[in-house]
Amino acid sequence: MSGLSKSRLLAHRQCPKRLWLQVHKPILAPAFDAATQARLDSGNQVGVIARALHPGGLLIEAADLRQALRDTAEALLAQPTRPLFEATFEHGGVLVRLDLLLPAADGYRLIEVKSSTSIKDYHLPDAAVQAWVARQAGLTIQEVAIGHIDNGFVYPGNGDYRGLLKEVSVDAEIQPLLGDIPQWVAGARSTLDGGEPSIAPGPQCETPFPCPFLEYCAPPAIATEPGYSVDDLPRGKSLAEQLRTEGYDDLRDVPVDRLTNPLHQRVQACAQNGSAYLDPQAKAILGNLPYPRFFIDFETYAPCVPIWPGTRPYAQVPFQWSCHVESVDGGLSHQAYLAEGPDDPRRPFTESLLSAVRETGPVFVYNAAFERSRLREMTGLYSPTWRFGSTMSSGASSICCPSPASIITTRSSTALGRSRRSCPPSPRKWPTKAWKSPTGRWRRPPSRKYSIPRRLKTGGRPYAGRSWIIAGWIRWLW
Ligand code: SF4
Repeated sequence: MSGLSKSRLLAHRQCPKRLWLQVHKPILAPAFDAATQARLDSGNQVGVIARALHPGGLLIEAADLRQALRDTAEALLAQPTRPLFEATFEHGGVLVRLDLLLPAADGYRLIEVKSSTSIKDYHLPDAAVQAWVARQAGLTIQEVAIGHIDNGFVYPGNGDYRGLLKEVSVDAEIQPLLGDIPQWVAGARSTLDGGEPSIAPGPQCETPFPCPFLEYCAPPAIATEPGYSVDDLPRGKSLAEQLRTEGYDDLRDVPVDRLTNPLHQRVQACAQNGSAYLDPQAKAILGNLPYPRFFIDFETYAPCVPIWPGTRPYAQVPFQWSCHVESVDGGLSHQAYLAEGPDDPRRPFTESLLSAVRETGPVFVYNAAFERSRLREMTGLYSPTWRFGSTMSSGASSICCPSPASIITTRSSTALGRSRRSCPPSPRKWPTKAWKSPTGRWRRPPSRKYSIPRRLKTGGRPYAGRSWIIAGWIRWLW
């Protein structure tokens, strides 16, 4: 029979079938995707910092768990008051490795380190299993705490991460769970000793983490023709769920009297016709915008552990921009910046962008609220005379509005605000990647969001012609 670990017990709590597959058919789980890998990397980074904050500690490095158990026992015997990292304990066939085991007045403090900025519900069973095994193995645990990221922390530089982690006691919260752990263990053993559990996919497949066996339990739907999901109804989540319970998955099949919102009716009409809708007033607004027009996009990086002085955990640090400029004669030029090397990219990002945008003109962006916030943060730091928004700034250096983005966000009742949501939903044609989750939502390949901007930027004539600009931009924002 296979041994148990904290992760296996937690997998069993999420879904017995998940644990069974994990142990008996692990090959069915796909390799980690980039998002999962990034989450794991963040966790590892925080672990390294947490250890560095307790100098003089010993890391139990052995990958082999039996060896790690021996190393832990020897370390505790040799120096009981030394902090241990990844200390390993076993009880009743359940093995755990503790992130931080710190000496206390009369025993130890056990700290589970998390890269989240607060304590989540699913942290509690995790900490409870750690504490239960350590105590059953004979250790006196005086306090169990979660060490999570303090998002008020500002990195001062020089590797000084004191204050990055906030340790919060969870003794009271885990107390009611401790008595249940023997049952968790027995249940997991019984599952592993039996055949593959027959469990239908459901909400458990995505909570607290997406299950890696989802494609095995709920194979992707094979689309034979483009489909338009009811999920595409703008701000229609609850309606979409209701429609699905009534048997409507495809927006085109929904009876028109089930859609009372004019916007929903328009979206359905676009889906049925397979054509885009552009409000004539929107066209007029866009047509009246002056030249040059700036099409700006940029990317940010939000490291869990701040890298550059003055930044906070998960702060959005821009490191790349791209700017197409359309002139009145239809000419198009392009400039871009990409940070290289380990230095703080914020100042060169800001200065290069401002020097590229010397003239006044409307700015088109992907997400007005997000991009304007970042631009204001950056110019506030490095060029406070610049202004973004609906008024002209003083001085030669300015990005002028009205930008379409500001029209979208501040005049949502205008024709443009309405029409931006009136393009037909994109057809779903991903027989191998787009699929429906057990909770009824379509899961999309991550590249979909960027398909239009990429086409605009990398095609032979990006943004060629005003109507293409408008259509492309609206599609982009929708
Ligand atoms: S996909 Fe869902 S049903 Fe299948 S093992 Fe995972 S959690 Fe269980």
